[in-house]
This record gives sequence, C-alpha cells and structure tokens, in this order.
Amino acid sequence: MLPEIRDHARLSAEFRWRLPRRFSIAEAICDRWATREPDRTALLLKRPGAALEPVSYGALRAASQALAAALAKRGLRRGDRAAVLLPQGAEVVTAHVALSRLGVVVAPLALAFGPDGIAYRLGDCDARAIVTNAEGLARLRAMAAQPPGLEIVVSVDGGDGAALDYAGLIAEGGAVEDEALTPDDPALMIYTSGTAGAPKGALHGGRVLLGHLPGLRMTHEFFPQPGDRAWTPADWAWAGGLLNLLMPALHYGVAVVAQPATKFDPEAAFALMAEAGVRNAFLPPTALRLMAGVPNPERFGAKLRSAVAAGERLGEATFHWAREALGVTVNEVYGQTECNYVLSSAAGLGVSKPGFIGKPTPGHVVGLFDDDGRPCGPDEPGEICVRRPDPILFLGYWNRPEATAEKFRGDWWRTGDQAVMDHEGYVRFVGRDDDVITTSGYRVGPGEIEDCLSRHPAVALAAAVGKPDALRTEIVRAFVQLRPGFAPSEALAGDISRFVRERLSAHEYPREVTFVDELPLTTSGKVIRRQLRDRA
Ligand code: ATP
Ligand code: MG
Repeated sequence: MLPEIRDHARLSAEFRWRLPRRFSIAEAICDRWATREPDRTALLLKRPGAALEPVSYGALRAASQALAAALAKRGLRRGDRAAVLLPQGAEVVTAHVALSRLGVVVAPLALAFGPDGIAYRLGDCDARAIVTNAEGLARLRAMAAQPPGLEIVVSVDGGDGAALDYAGLIAEGGAVEDEALTPDDPALMIYTSGTAGAPKGALHGGRVLLGHLPGLRMTHEFFPQPGDRAWTPADWAWAGGLLNLLMPALHYGVAVVAQPATKFDPEAAFALMAEAGVRNAFLPPTALRLMAGVPNPERFGAKLRSAVAAGERLGEATFHWAREALGVTVNEVYGQTECNYVLSSAAGLGVSKPGFIGKPTPGHVVGLFDDDGRPCGPDEPGEICVRRPDPILFLGYWNRPEATAEKFRGDWWRTGDQAVMDHEGYVRFVGRDDDVITTSGYRVGPGEIEDCLSRHPAVALAAAVGKPDALRTEIVRAFVQLRPGFAPSEALAGDISRFVRERLSAHEYPREVTFVDELPLTTSGKVIRRQLRDRA
C-alpha cells in the first residue's frame, strides 16, 4: 500500500488506503508465507542456555489448523472471545492463527497480571476459552470466582482434570476451512494499559493490522530489508508488542525472536540482541532508559538497523543515548490501544527531531484542537485527535457504546492527550489530560520535567506529578528512582531540584523530590502517575 515515494510530504499527500474485500489475521501472518515458502523461518525461540530454535511458517500453519479443528469440535464458534495468556513463544502465534481461522475474537493477556487482573478481563469480555500454561492455570485457580463463561481451558504444559492438553489437541490432527472474514470483522480485543483507571477492552477489526503496515515500513527504515530480524522485550499481549512488532514482522516474512521473560533485564536485552542477530527492535522508552544504565554496552556487540520506541515519551536524553550506544536513530511513535501508530518519526525520510514524537504517519489524519473544538495554530497546545475513517481506529470499547461515542467529536477521535505542533509540523507530546500539572497559572506537562530529570547523573527513572498547593494550585513533585551507587539524601534532593530549575524555568522545577526504590509501572512499562498522585 505504501507507494515507493521517498518524500514524506508527498507520501502523506498521495497515500490512499486500499483494503481487500477479504482479510484475516491467519492469512496475513501465516498462510501467505506457508503457502509459498513453508520452510521459511517465522520465529526464533530463545530458551536459556540453548541455541536459537527456528519455527517455520509451515509448522505454524499445521499446528494452528489442528488446534482450530480441536477447538471447533469442542464448540468454539465465530464471534466468541478467547484469551491467550502466554509468554512469548510459538504457542502464542499458533493460538492467534487458530482462533482467527474460526473467526474468534482474541483477547491477548499478560502473565504479569495477577489473578484479579486476569479475572477482570476474562469476565469483562465474557471469554469462552483460554489458551495458557501452568502459570496461567495457577492464576485461574487463585481467582475468588471462576469467570462464569469460561468453558474451554487449554494448557501448553499438559492437561489435567480442568484443562485440555494443547499438544494432545494438535495431535488430533484435524483441519478446518477458514471463516470468510472482512477487514471490519472483529478480530482482537486488546485491553488498554489501565494507566487512568480500569482497563477498557478495545475491539479491533483485522484491519488494524493493515493499518500498521505502512507506518511500520517507514519507522523501520523501509522494512523489510534482506537480513532483517525483529525483536521486542514488550509482552506480545500489549498492543505495542503485538501490533508494533510481532504481527507486522510475520506479515512481511521477517523472523521474530521470541524470548519468554517476566521482568525486563537491560543487560540480558543487549546480550540477546547480539546473540540472536536482532536488526529491528521495538523498545519501550522505559526499557531504553533502563538500558542506558548499563555500562559499556558496546561490549555486547548488538547491531541494530532500525529501532522504534512508543508508549511513553522517548525524550531527548534517551534519544541521544540510543544514537551513541545503539548506533541507530530511534524513531518515536505515538498511539493508543484504540488508535495506534498515528504519529511517528522516520529518520530515513528525514523526519526526526529530538524531543518531538514526529509527524502524522502517512495514511492518518491527525489534528490538534482546543477545548472548544477549534483547530490549534502552530505552537498552540491542544488535544491530539484522529479523523475517521481510519483502519487503525478501533471498532469501539467492548460493551461500552456510550464510552465510545463520548470520545468522538464528529468524525474526530479524541485521544485525551495534549500536544503542540510546531511550524514544521512536528508534534511534541505535553501529557495526558489527567497528568497535566497546573502550577502558578501555567499548564505544564510532566514530560519535559521528566526528560530534564533523567539527564541528572544520579537519576535512573523519574516521574513528575502535581501536588495540591494552596498558593500555586499545584506544585511539581518529582518521584525519582536512583541509579545504582547513589543513595537518597536531602542534599541530593536539593541538587536534583536545582538541576531542573537551572535548565527549565522557575515554575517548572520540582519543589519536592521523593526517592522511591521502584516507580509503579504498568506491564507495558508506563509510569502510573495516578498512583504517585495519590501518595500523601
Ligand atoms: P488507559 O487508557 O487504560 O488509561 P493507557 O492510555 O496508558 O491506559 P495505552 O493505550 O497502552 O493505555 O497507552 C496509550 C497512551 O500512551 C497514549 O494515550 C499516551 O498517553 C501514551 N503514549 C503513547 N505513545 C506515546 C509517546 N510517543 N509519547 C508520549 N506518550 C505516549
Ligand atoms: Mg488510554
């Protein structure tokens, strides 16, 4: 769909979506290659102490056919919801493809969630089936009450009284005829990160994958190129891991490195990228900031060709660090579970400016509007809005038509994020509506303060929030996680506070600095500022 034009402005002007009449995720991430080149490598599995183990598209097709047949035999039907609760691995892709064949809506879930978080999501979308492992089964057993609609439980670690054995189902060796799906048919139910409250189920048509492809090609520097190999430490259950990397890479026939991991380990990330020959990485900014704390990263020998970051502000400090340490210009991307990849940098097309997300991704119409719905001029802050129709835009919140309708103004989807666009069309992120700090008559986004804080040599991660104040409405309060080798002290707090004051302005510096062992993060690595605001 992306015309071979290497000029960003012309690409934006001339881009037209051409969606096929029929579309399924099974075809898009598996069968198109399995038919032509069944032996082509789709995944490279990395287990501790073992060599990389390739999994071919042909193997994924055969396994997913059999799993689909076995699930259909047990009553799973088009339109049902099924959860996939597994770490990165071949079973995740097999389950997605199998469920897509049946026209079942897949709700990807992360093992980082506790029993309550999983129960909430399973109950909310009334999932009828789940494909999980022993760890997931333990979560199910720990639930106060089993989700009533959950009838089919499959475990990749073997069956028992309550669960069917995944390998056994595949060994039944059945096959199905795929449901005929259109790009608009519901395919994925992805829960938002829950940064602002209870996570919401965002229902997407299969078209969401098509919507990602042009942006992915640009942000990964004309993806795919010979020798490309993709990896993300992000959970494949998060929109970022699933749609910013896994599915598009499989679509383009680029092998994806899979490593089951529960907690992000920055040294292990460098080591894996080197060992597995990763060339294209999707790295959340929090991951990059933690990697920046690793001394002499060159010693690992990682060689990236392209890197994309999204989910949080990348920030200038991390941008420059990555250029030095990873040797690539990180292309920042902005989006939401509901409407992803709509703003982006594309260094290969000359679109890159430290401290700015980038420009509207060709194919997406993005505008900034003030509180009264008037379009903002250059440098005027406003809400990021995205115009429909857009294949990347979700179908709606599951079972919440009013909540969905509330977030549109006419044909504009309102993201609830504040930004400014400069005279060149570059967008700078200011903050989520609920994170903007009002102090001494100014509206300040936490991003700039956090970016400045992270340039202080003692700071590993930082978050800025508003703290109610009688005189100034709010004051800026910073929460700081220190780098190894630094200890909290009043002197250090004063130094950090002064550091920001000297670099930003007299109203934007933290009057209070609180040290924490660990900042509260969502499973996708976002700082949960709401929890920090609530701390006395
Ligand atoms: P919830 O909607 O449940 O409160 P959430 O908004 O954090 O959670 P996601 O959909 O995962 O859930 O995250 C989207 C949000 O992440 C965006 O609305 C924006 O606030 C933030 N975000 C994404 N990309 C960027 C970026 N490049 N820079 C700054 N913020 C970003
Ligand atoms: Mg949100």
